[in-house]
Amino acid sequence: MSEFAQLNPPERILMGPGPSSVPVRVLKALASPTMGHLDPEYIDVMDECCAMLRRVFRTENALTFPVSATGMAGMEAIASNLVERGDEVIVCINGVFGGRMKDIMERCGATVHTVEAEWGEVITDEAVGEAVQAHPKARLVTIVHAETSTGVHQPLIEISKMAHEAGMLLAVDAVTSLGGHPVNVDEWGIDAIFSGTQKCLSCPPGLSPVSFSERALTVMDARESKVQSWYFDVSMLRDYYSGTGTRAYHHTAPINMVYGLREALAIVLEEGLEARFERHRVMHERLRAGLDRLGISYIPKNSLHTLNCVSIPEGVEDGPVRSRLLDDYSIEIGAGLGPFAGKAWRIGLMGHAATRQNVDLLLAALGEVMG
Ligand SMILES: *Cc1c(COP(=O)(O)O)cnc(C)c1O
Repeated sequence: MSEFAQLNPPERILMGPGPSSVPVRVLKALASPTMGHLDPEYIDVMDECCAMLRRVFRTENALTFPVSATGMAGMEAIASNLVERGDEVIVCINGVFGGRMKDIMERCGATVHTVEAEWGEVITDEAVGEAVQAHPKARLVTIVHAETSTGVHQPLIEISKMAHEAGMLLAVDAVTSLGGHPVNVDEWGIDAIFSGTQKCLSCPPGLSPVSFSERALTVMDARESKVQSWYFDVSMLRDYYSGTGTRAYHHTAPINMVYGLREALAIVLEEGLEARFERHRVMHERLRAGLDRLGISYIPKNSLHTLNCVSIPEGVEDGPVRSRLLDDYSIEIGAGLGPFAGKAWRIGLMGHAATRQNVDLLLAALGEVMG
């Protein structure tokens, strides 16, 4: 008998801000035999995975690949490759993740001009227009498409136009939208975008899909200084992922995670992007109607379907409700962050977890626990 009993994590219903529940098909893919990362058979899997990512991002961008770490690594990769010390950058902030982008940009040596909105509000086109005029030398505008801390769904099309008219690039955080809401990289003119595997793609955390436009590559090629981060320096990864030149060793690709992502993307594409967005919409409407009956209202006007940020009703205690959901129903929902701590719940309807069964169970459980 081993001193260590076999690992046996409980099976949770993951309805928080991520990770979301993972289909068995993806878990099985993760358990497939590990190959070498330069093995031609593995290169085929990786190429296929990148081709699927292009379809999910709706882009022709050659440089589309999974960065070997979670979503924050995608944010860091974009900032470190597109910005040089002394560059000006416009960062839109209406929650936690816009704030993190500012921090990372400053660590990369950028001078950051912020465009801010209240938590729960979208960034307005007017505010971005003013910032772009006030800071014409800025190289880049960054914005969060799906602000997981507030549940706000940010429109991007007008903001993209304004950035490009001013000769700037647009970088987007699509961690909580990719696979749940349309993310039309080419049509919307997004120059750099990152996401994560564990939200609406329903794969475990561990990779950050990114995509860079030709415009972004031109900016990278014109750099005067080396990218400060060795690990995230895209110029060293480009040959490996775009298939031009030799596939040389840079770092050992997280082989089994790529298997998992490949399988998760296959599930997304088999369902079909439009059908998947529609399922997220329908589940969001169902949840919203049920919460309304329980006297629970949404905080943002322009709510995501994938992340539902709601007010905790008067007299209801945050911690005990979430603990009972977890202990009695094995359901995880998220707490509020920052100014919303103790005041909001964040209910994820992401990917594999966005089902009628889960919505109805959560509503019944909430009714029981609050009642
Ligand atoms: C989850 C999330 C991230 C960070 O991803 P990690 O996988 O936790 O590193 C970044 N941006 C948004 C909007 C997110 O929801």
